[in-house]
Amino acid sequence: MGRRRRKVVKVVKRKLPEFFLCPRCGKNTVKVSIDRRHEVAVVVCGACGLKGEFPLSSLSEPVDIYCSFVDQFYARPRTR
Ligand SMILES: [Zn+2]
Repeated sequence: MGRRRRKVVKVVKRKLPEFFLCPRCGKNTVKVSIDRRHEVAVVVCGACGLKGEFPLSSLSEPVDIYCSFVDQFYARPRTR
């Protein structure tokens, strides 16, 4: 019996990107995790450790939360 290798078919699902660009380190390592039980969204950069927490009120899309995260980062006075 000949073993036939099936071609791996990639199923491309339309999905939001899981990682976002970090405003501090510029890497694509920011992850938005939504905790619906505690009604918070936690945004963490896996590279530099930049972190933010947002209440899940009107913001429910990871993209919206990520935008607030970036806004907050730029609004915050920089520590030197
Ligand atoms: Zn970072």
